[in-house]
Parts: sequence; C-alpha cells; structure tokens
Amino acid sequence: MPMLTKQLSVSHEHLDASIQTAAQILKNGGLVAIPTETVYGLAANALDEEAVKKIFSAKGRPQDNPLIVHASSLKVIEKLVKEIPPAAKKCAEAFWPGPFTMVLPKSDIIPNTVCAGLDTVAVRIPKNNITQKLLAASQLVLAAPSANISGSPSPTTFEHVLNDLDGKIDAVLMGERCAVGVESTVVTFATNPPRLLRPGGITIEQLREFIPDLVIDKAIFSEPKKNVAVASPGMKYKHYSPKAKIIVVEADRESFETFVSEQRKVDPNIFALCFDESNNRLGQPLICCGQTNDSISYAARLFDALRELDLRGCKLCYAISPGKQGVGLAVYNRLLRAAAFEVISL
Ligand code: AMP
Ligand code: MG
Repeated sequence: MPMLTKQLSVSHEHLDASIQTAAQILKNGGLVAIPTETVYGLAANALDEEAVKKIFSAKGRPQDNPLIVHASSLKVIEKLVKEIPPAAKKCAEAFWPGPFTMVLPKSDIIPNTVCAGLDTVAVRIPKNNITQKLLAASQLVLAAPSANISGSPSPTTFEHVLNDLDGKIDAVLMGERCAVGVESTVVTFATNPPRLLRPGGITIEQLREFIPDLVIDKAIFSEPKKNVAVASPGMKYKHYSPKAKIIVVEADRESFETFVSEQRKVDPNIFALCFDESNNRLGQPLICCGQTNDSISYAARLFDALRELDLRGCKLCYAISPGKQGVGLAVYNRLLRAAAFEVISL
C-alpha cells in the first residue's frame, strides 16, 4: 500500500514546524529523506532495528550493504564505536562536519542490521544545517544511505528523491540541491594502516596530511571479482546506473570531441557528457558538467546529468573522464560504476 509522503517545506516560516514533524516521524520509527552536503539521505533512527529494516525495503537495498550512521557531535559518536584512534580523531577535527565517513569497530548499541552483520560501523557528522537541526531536535543518531532506489543514480535534489521514493517513505525535507553532489569519502580505521574504501568530497591529498600511510582500496578503480569479499560491501553492486548505456572515455578534450563527432556520423543521437567548452564543437545532444578539469563542478552535476539522460531518452552516452586528482577521483569512480566498467582510452 503506498503511503502519503509528506513534503516538508524548509522555507523560513515553515522550517521549525517541518523539523518537529520530521523528528516525530523518526522517533515513531518512520523514514524521512534528508538533505546533506553530499547527496540526499534516507534516514531512520539508527538504534531502532525495525525502523532501519524499513530503509532496506523502501530502497530495495541488498541486506549485506551496511549503512552510514549520522550524528551531531564527536561526543555522540564516541558512544557508537569502541574507540577512536589518534589518526581518526585528527581527521574528525579537520573534516567534520563534512563529507567524510570513518569506519570503526562498533559498540554494542549499534543493531546488526545497520552494519549488515559486520563488527564495524560507518559514522559521519553531516554539514547541512537543516539536517543538523533535525539531529538536534530529535536527539537521535540517524542511519541514512542515499535516498534513491538501489542501483539508480544518487539523489542530489528533493525532486530526485520523490521520483524514486514518493509513496514509499513518510516524508522528505525539501532542502537545497546538494553542494558536493557525490557521496562521502569512506576511510576504514579498523585496519592498520587505514584504507580508503570510497573516494568523495574529501580528497586523498587532504587525507594524506593526517594519514600518511593511507592505503587505496583496489575496488575504487576496478570491478570487484565475483565471490571475493570486498572491504566495503557497497563497492560490489551495480551503481548509479541510468537506463542509458554509458561509456567512459579517457582522453583530452580535443580527442574526445573528435571521437564523439566520428561516432555521430553513424548515429547522430549519441549523447556526450562533457565539459562546457565542448558545446561549441559538438552541439546537441549533450550535457555539460562545468569547465574543463573543474572536477568540483563535474561532481556537483554528475548524478543529475545521469538522470537527465534517461529523461531525454538517451540510449548511448560517451562521458569524458575527469582528471583523477582531487574530487576528480570520486567522479571517475562513480562514472566507472555507471558505465559498468566500460572504458575507452584514446
Ligand atoms: P550509501 O550510504 O548508500 O552511500 O552507502 C554506504 C557506503 O558505506 C557503502 O558503500 C558501504 O559499503 C559503506 N559502508 C558502510 N558501513 C560500512 C562498514 N561497516 N564497513 C565498510 N564499509 C561500510
Ligand atoms: Mg547509495
């Protein structure tokens, strides 16, 4: 039975009432989609196992893919984990609130469903002020994966959330477009040395300042082998996939434009996901993601672009690969998964 999904305004005059409504829904074991600086999250009370189970069923999320727990402060997080090693504490001070998640041995209060039976838990302090108000008003810790149907591109606007989950969740807080646009950087401190499990808004370059011996998990660049355990279960699933077929092209801008122009002689309907400057040479159909090598803009635009491809009836899209430095690595990682690892190097 579909339920009515409340659309909670966060305009100045409605904000307080909306936060109270959302907090009450969460305390009653319901689901609320929340804005964060990374992507919209689908939140439930992390300490209420029945509520957490609803997240998995609303999203169609595989049971073995653990969730990130969002909290308001380091003091609260200290209760969710066994201990916080010194390097993790330094990262917490430097990057929280912000797009950074750490995996640590879990304390007993974390239900097994949250961490999919693992003995570790992923935790983060989000930056978005609406979600911070909600954490404060509810006094809860919130398990929140991305608020999309599992496998589809993550939502960066509340409209994306409604497209996927209207009628399946209790409410959505209608916040702004997410500033970062890709999910948080995930580092596990449960291994020695610590390991980067997922690139995101906090870059390797930033992390190395506090974790000089950081290891980069191979799953970031390559397709995980079947039946081999992965450090971050989320890495093994098909992800971020529009219906359109995506192929990543590793090339400089001119070579990319020449390649797409050649392909369009055979099929003029081929889309390009490209930098703004390619508009002049390529023309429609295309989606521009910011200026050449501006991977921060590419990240902010990426998931919206993947959804737009489907809305515009795209069958095949060549996507230019960003540089892999900085946030570019997170964009590259998501593009690889959207393309089911199909890459052309020119
Ligand atoms: P999402 O919230 O949809 O962005 O997914 C959360 C990501 O964090 C997934 O890729 C998970 O595999 C990862 N994650 C969450 N908890 C853990 C954990 N305990 N150990 C390793 N990875 C985790
Ligand atoms: Mg997700």
